[in-house]
Amino acid sequence: MAYRAGVPMEDMEMIQFHPTTLPSTGVLISEGVRGEGGILYNDNEERLMFEYGYANNAGELASRDVVSRSELTEINEGRGIEDEYVHLDMRHLGEERILDRLENILHLAEDFEGVDGLDEPMPVKPGQHYAMGGVETDENGETCIEGLYAAGETACVSLHGANRLGGNALPELLVFGARAGYHAAGKDMKTAEIETGPSAKSEAGDVHPPVEPGAIDAGGEDVAADGAAVEPKAVIENAVERERNRVDTLLESDGINHAEVRADVQETMTDNVNVFRKEDGLMQALRDIRQARVDYEEVAVADPSRTYNTDLIHTIETRNILDVAEAITLGALAREEFRGAHWRAEHQERKDDEWIKHTMLAWNDGTPELYYKPVILEGDEQTYEPKERSY
Ligand SMILES: Cc1cc2nc3c(=O)[nH]c(=O)nc-3n(C[C@H](O)[C@H](O)[C@H](O)COP(=O)(O)OP(=O)(O)OC[C@H]3O[C@@H](n4cnc5c(N)ncnc54)[C@H](O)[C@@H]3O)c2cc1C
Repeated sequence: MAYRAGVPMEDMEMIQFHPTTLPSTGVLISEGVRGEGGILYNDNEERLMFEYGYANNAGELASRDVVSRSELTEINEGRGIEDEYVHLDMRHLGEERILDRLENILHLAEDFEGVDGLDEPMPVKPGQHYAMGGVETDENGETCIEGLYAAGETACVSLHGANRLGGNALPELLVFGARAGYHAAGKDMKTAEIETGPSAKSEAGDVHPPVEPGAIDAGGEDVAADGAAVEPKAVIENAVERERNRVDTLLESDGINHAEVRADVQETMTDNVNVFRKEDGLMQALRDIRQARVDYEEVAVADPSRTYNTDLIHTIETRNILDVAEAITLGALAREEFRGAHWRAEHQERKDDEWIKHTMLAWNDGTPELYYKPVILEGDEQTYEPKERSY
């Protein structure tokens, strides 16, 4: 919604996959299991993290992207269980310690997979977990539209760079949620140093999608013509009017159900914009998202109710999913390197000379514009040297 209102999205391609989610539901099995000493095995009952040299020092405690890629490599090379998952074993920790520290994990494994974690290993595979990117804000949580703030996972103040460390989402919420609140309430705070909006542009982007991205009916509909700062009152009035008209149309017309469109986008994102990303797959995802935009034109809401109408809510959300999915995929296609959570088959190195920069995408009245802005490495007291990560 912020994107369509004229706020750029930042680093959307940086998506974290968590290595231990239950295969049938994606329910998360906490890192705590590996933290306590849980072990990952493949179908040959080999301790995969060491057996295949994925992380010879850290083993199961390597960062999430490394463990996720290791598990999927096992599965892709035929050493996955039922070609779909690996095993996470905590039995050796003993009943007393498991009940003391990890009791809720027992319930999750039992309820969602029918597995007793005291007696058998649990099935796990990587699942989409966290968005490092999001709505561009400054350090006061404010966007380039005066009065519009974002904080938490939806925002990108870029605390996490390309790869969040576990546990860092909540401190970010507390710090930047509070700062956004104080600033919005008019508390006297330092003027933000982080530049936002198109003026922060440092370099034009270069991406060649196989189909036009953005709105099917680009032009005229959206609030901010060029992503520049707009009067808050005008933004709100226009947006409310437009949304009213859209809701009326959805409720009053006949058409297909949003779930069909949503399922198509989910499928292509799972197939093509997952842990492993290849150029042809990313291209295919953009084609599929374009088709989903075309199909979405035919969507209507069957339930005519105007109170707590979940069909309507999900239909509106599906439109947002299209824009988010496309922003992730465009950023991923453009970033020709392997950095943090973003892995590209054709570009297996981290290219610091070229790619220490934030991916920015402006909705630009329905014709998305890609550009980059610099990463801030200089603090008040020291400059942070980027370092290669190795295991
Ligand atoms: C399983 C799991 C475990 C995690 N564990 C940890 C951890 O241990 N430590 C850590 O730091 N981070 C953890 N994270 C990440 C962290 O929990 C999230 O990043 C964080 O909770 C996000 O908070 P938020 O307030 O930004 O968003 P949310 O908590 O998602 O809040 C957004 C709210 O907006 C509401 N909403 C949505 N749409 C609308 C609408 N149209 N109108 C009104 N309201 C709306 C939603 O219902 C929701 O309540 C975990 C994440 C997951 C999924």
